[in-house]
Amino acid sequence: MDKISQNIQNVLAKIKEAAEKYKRDPATITLLNVSKTKPEQMVIAAYQAGQRHFGESYAVEASEKIENLKSQGYNDIIWHFIGPIQKNKTKLIAEHFDIVESVDRAIVAKRLNDQRPEHLGILDVLIQVNISDEEQKSGCSIDEIDSIVDEIQKCSKLRLRGFMGIGLDTEDMQLIDSEFQKLHGLFVKYKEKFKDFNILSLGMTNDLEIAIKNESTQVRIGTAIFGAREYKNK
Ligand SMILES: *Cc1c(COP(=O)(O)O)cnc(C)c1O
Repeated sequence: MDKISQNIQNVLAKIKEAAEKYKRDPATITLLNVSKTKPEQMVIAAYQAGQRHFGESYAVEASEKIENLKSQGYNDIIWHFIGPIQKNKTKLIAEHFDIVESVDRAIVAKRLNDQRPEHLGILDVLIQVNISDEEQKSGCSIDEIDSIVDEIQKCSKLRLRGFMGIGLDTEDMQLIDSEFQKLHGLFVKYKEKFKDFNILSLGMTNDLEIAIKNESTQVRIGTAIFGAREYKNK
């Protein structure tokens, strides 16, 4: 698993390089290790390389992984849910995660709040905004943000922390850049209004640098750390 440690060093170097290029402090950019579909041993390898933030997209698979790792003593991992949320999975997510980045409907916020076990305390949430015109499965439109914010404000166990965005799947970096600029503009507006609103989750393996250019505070990296994903049933 030395390979994973090497990959992490490479990603951290890229973050640092991009931060320097765009006059940012690299300490203001969190690396989220996206371990979806990857085995527990790979999470442990990244953990041993110093990583504590992990992202998962499939509620059932992730909950098992999280429980197994906790039972082995890995209790200080911060687990981020970043996948599309089906209504019937909100309970599992509320019971296992520390932060949910993919809230895109008011009903999902309400269910996460109602199903969050009291002893786990506050659940941090980001609103996932669909910034492209492309038909994406998840993410709310810009027009829908305010009604979701209103719902989250009513939820005593949820704390609104920021926005998450996924760049277009394209080679056209200028297009991604303009989308990220749009989301950053919105982020600045909401940051002025809401206390604790300070996470802009932007950037994956292929668009990390453009995300950092656009003030991302968290990059979500899977492939560059754990290698390509294999899906059994696809
Ligand atoms: C899978 C996934 C990632 C990681 O993407 P890579 O291209 O493998 O770095 C990041 N964000 C979300 C929301 C994902 O689903």
